[in-house]
Amino acid sequence: MEDERESSLRLRVEVLKRVFDEATEGMLIVSYDHSIYYYNKAFKKILGFPEDREPGFLLEEYLEFLGPKQTKMIRERLDQTGTFRGELPIRRLDGSEGYILLTIETIVDEKGNGTYRFVNCTDLSELKQMEESLERSILQDALTGLPNRLMLLNTLEESIERSRKTGGRCALISIDLDQFKQINDTLGHRFGDQVIIALAERIEDHIRESDLFGRIGGDEFLIILQGPRAEAEKVMNTVDALQEDLSRPLILGEREYSVGASMGIALCPDDAANAAELLKYADMALFRAKELGGKRSQFYSEEINASFLRRFEIEHALSRAIQGRNFHLVFQPQYDLASARIIGVEALVRFDEGVLPYRVSPAEFIPIAESVGLIVPIGRIVLEESCRIFRDWKAHGIGGVQLSVNLSRKQLGDETFVSFVRECLERYAIASHEVEFEITETALMTTDSNARELIHSLRSMGCRIAVDDFGTGYSNLGVFKEFTVDRIKIDRSFITDLPDSETDRAIVGATIVMAKVLGLRVVAEGVESDDQLGVLRILGCDETQGNYFMAASDPDDVLDVLLKERRIGNS
Ligand code: GH3
Ligand code: MG
Repeated sequence: MEDERESSLRLRVEVLKRVFDEATEGMLIVSYDHSIYYYNKAFKKILGFPEDREPGFLLEEYLEFLGPKQTKMIRERLDQTGTFRGELPIRRLDGSEGYILLTIETIVDEKGNGTYRFVNCTDLSELKQMEESLERSILQDALTGLPNRLMLLNTLEESIERSRKTGGRCALISIDLDQFKQINDTLGHRFGDQVIIALAERIEDHIRESDLFGRIGGDEFLIILQGPRAEAEKVMNTVDALQEDLSRPLILGEREYSVGASMGIALCPDDAANAAELLKYADMALFRAKELGGKRSQFYSEEINASFLRRFEIEHALSRAIQGRNFHLVFQPQYDLASARIIGVEALVRFDEGVLPYRVSPAEFIPIAESVGLIVPIGRIVLEESCRIFRDWKAHGIGGVQLSVNLSRKQLGDETFVSFVRECLERYAIASHEVEFEITETALMTTDSNARELIHSLRSMGCRIAVDDFGTGYSNLGVFKEFTVDRIKIDRSFITDLPDSETDRAIVGATIVMAKVLGLRVVAEGVESDDQLGVLRILGCDETQGNYFMAASDPDDVLDVLLKERRIGNS
């Protein structure tokens, strides 16, 4: 009987010992009189005790992986409450670092005296690593590993606060790669990613320890400079060096690419004293740098602010004008050089500014309308209004004249544009071949399949297509392979100096020869003088448009000229 109880007890002790030994948590029991002292394998493993080293009896010995300060704090806590529980960073005895949850309990006898201490530690190192990598991913850009938007904005707030306290400066440089969409469109998104990484590395070469550089998103980066580095002159040196470096050709694989970036700079407290404004101003300056053609840097100024305000006012006025259809059209005739007769008219939109206290030229409002997408509804107003006027002209017996309407890149994304064209033509009884859409060379080069389909649909409906501003884009002759076009319009920039510039003569001459080989007609835009006309005749140009013949004029004036032409022709 006694034997049975003893063996059952031994068995239970054996089981408990196994559980203790094999537990994944580190455990150590130590009695106050040092008669019992036990620890498991996990205890040594978690705390990095070498094979031949045992944790000692005393607190300092078995907590050897903690520093003296921490051990002191634990001892005080134990003296006061008899227990300790806390998460602690440790340096293991093998030198590596980790993180544990440490619990120490004191077991007391019936008189309240401590008899044993039970020490338990859970390894939190992996959990902590995961937590840290999660934290990093919240603050880090996944593509480049650089600080991300959140981290940059947090740091910016801190930098501003610091400069406020110390009376120092901080500077913000907002960087955006130029024409990056083209790289993505032509070479693919993954290649685009490589470009982003390569250029980020170049920028990083200019970053010092006190700066913060990160990717704010897409092809946009931000640099925060502080203290002496944020003085205007130093900032200027930094951006100049950055510009030079970023405009160097990029060699990826076997090929060279030219990328480049624009930068906008705002200074704190000079321009703004809070993060939101500083960012806004740096972006305004960046926008101006882009407007001026890119690959340049621009400091924020009051003048930029004023021009933004103007832009904003124009944008609003345009939105309101669309609702009230407050636009009118002028037409510029296109002449056949051989017969000196009008063969077509280009419809050009003018904006009835209304409430604006200043005049706004098309050169100013059309890019604004284009950039914010208002060109889509404006383009529809132009098409409908010009069809209506064209019908009236036809009612006066005017025939054999073509109506040219501009079609912008944004309009190529207007999904219902083709059906809108069909409706207009039907409503105003205009044949599709009487309408020509002028599309810029750059817009025609689109890789967007919907835009290409739109152009093909217009063409198969019978409308004509002209390549507008020819020579100013990439002059990619593949355009002629993809789309059946009818005319090429040579940009006015090649016509202005035609009599004096051999280069312009060569370019225009070559364009005319190429067009003829392809069976296309050529219109020279912006003809203003006898001399220009003389050269164009020699080069074999068919058609011209420009103030030399007739400036863009009100529809009634154009109708008068057309009627006069018909009368002369008939007499
Ligand atoms: P701009 O000269 O006016 O700056 O024009 P942009 O062509 O550079 O175009 P923009 O700066 O307005 O837009 C940046 C483009 O970058 C938009 C998007 O297609 C592309 N983009 C955004 N994020 C990523 C990315 O993570 N990888 C790649 N490859 N492209 C991206
Ligand atoms: Mg860009």
